[in-house]
Amino acid sequence: MYFLAIIGGGPAGYTAAELATKAGKDVILFEQTALGGTCLNIGCIPTKSLLYGAKQYYNATHAQKYGVTADNVRFDFAAMQKRKTIVVRKLVAGIRQRLNNEHCTIVNGYAAVMSRTDTQVTINCNGESYEAENLLICTGSTNFVPPIPGIKDNPAIWDSTDALAAAELPKSIIIVGGGVIGMEFATLYHELGIPVTVIEAMATILPNLDQDVVQILLDKYRKAGINILTSTKVESINGNKVIANGEAYEADKILVSVGRRANLNGLEKLTDIHLNRGAIEVDDFMKTNLPNVYACGDVTGKVMLAHVAARQAEVAVCRMLKQIPLQRIAYNAIPSVVYTNPEIASVGLTEQQVRDFYTEMEGEAGVTKAGGINTFYDAKTLPMTFSGRFMAENDGETGLCKILVDKRNHTILGVHLIGNPCSEFISAASFAVRMGYTLPEFRQVVFPHPTVSEILHEAINE
Ligand code: NAD
Repeated sequence: MYFLAIIGGGPAGYTAAELATKAGKDVILFEQTALGGTCLNIGCIPTKSLLYGAKQYYNATHAQKYGVTADNVRFDFAAMQKRKTIVVRKLVAGIRQRLNNEHCTIVNGYAAVMSRTDTQVTINCNGESYEAENLLICTGSTNFVPPIPGIKDNPAIWDSTDALAAAELPKSIIIVGGGVIGMEFATLYHELGIPVTVIEAMATILPNLDQDVVQILLDKYRKAGINILTSTKVESINGNKVIANGEAYEADKILVSVGRRANLNGLEKLTDIHLNRGAIEVDDFMKTNLPNVYACGDVTGKVMLAHVAARQAEVAVCRMLKQIPLQRIAYNAIPSVVYTNPEIASVGLTEQQVRDFYTEMEGEAGVTKAGGINTFYDAKTLPMTFSGRFMAENDGETGLCKILVDKRNHTILGVHLIGNPCSEFISAASFAVRMGYTLPEFRQVVFPHPTVSEILHEAINE
């Protein structure tokens, strides 16, 4: 009998497998497709590989402002796709190697839970039966298909997996959903010269991000010719025609990216597991309501990010092995990045969340007294152009650094950035938020010059 059975070999599953085997436990991991999960195979890594190719092309065709002229710049989409596949293959092989080194048993196939007691879980895969003391569910998520008439069996419709696999670029594209996936694909196609329309139901794209930062992207993308429609609801789709707010829009392909849902396939027999809005409910230690069953990653519906999944796996294994002190996840300090051009990176609360929080804490009377809600927090903002390195490398671009600070104890509540390459230094801000640094403490951190990261230092001194 194994100590731990893991279903799903994405960032949650492979991280947990490596940690538990390293701790000397017998672990079996089931994966129906390829190790690496959505992130490595049909998500983060292939998207970033293609986006990088598109950025090279875009930069080459927009280099004149730096004194460089290139004639006849062309791209080869097939070559970009080939390179993407090689990158993915290498990374997946690396994970297999790491798990093999730790002697983790890997079974390739669709695993289904057959039965469970508080001391044993039985799993069936490829006609074989496997027993383990503990089960860790890391089955991830799948693209949500909204109930819009005309989506099913429509060859013009793509989800993100179809878009990444396509051998050819679409001639034009409508993207339904201006969230993270939608805006990253809008970037890819726009930079490769494809006409893009984004249709977003909410009043703004990227509604979960700080809106001052989003506005800068929105202005730039609209000016560049991306047709972004907000407060626009798709009513129906007919072939390659989208009807939204009574108007018809037409494109070669229609990419639907309106969120993802927890994947509960193979868990049908766990009828007594608690769900919350279609995802597996877990406590602070990633434990479900069933004593020997844990869940990590997208299937928990908490924050659908690969780095959150990996951290959740660390917490789950620590709890399973009863390692003291038990670990928890600091959900208030999870960084996230949107790979648009310019990139957006953030950590902690948005200004809207800060305002909602203090309104709830203080009540209407508290927030309407002299000074209003601004009594409680400060928003320190600085254009990216205050960074010398940003100016040297981002001709004609704007950007923003926004730091939200609690006025009473001077801790950092949130940091929001737009401007390249902010994805590479948001971790400095995450560190400050995670460790509960006050502004005077953060001020003592020395940032290397000249780097765009210095904007953090400049902004807190505002
Ligand atoms: P999302 O929740 O980020 O965005 C979906 C968007 O679709 C929302 O803005 C929503 O208002 C809109 N929408 C919903 N129904 C609509 C409709 N009928 N018509 C028009 N718009 C509609 O979801 P996503 O972009 O599909 O991404 C899924 C998950 O994957 C997210 O949790 C995301 O964080 C994650 N992801 C992360 C990254 C990254 O970290 N860089 C990249 C890709 C995906």
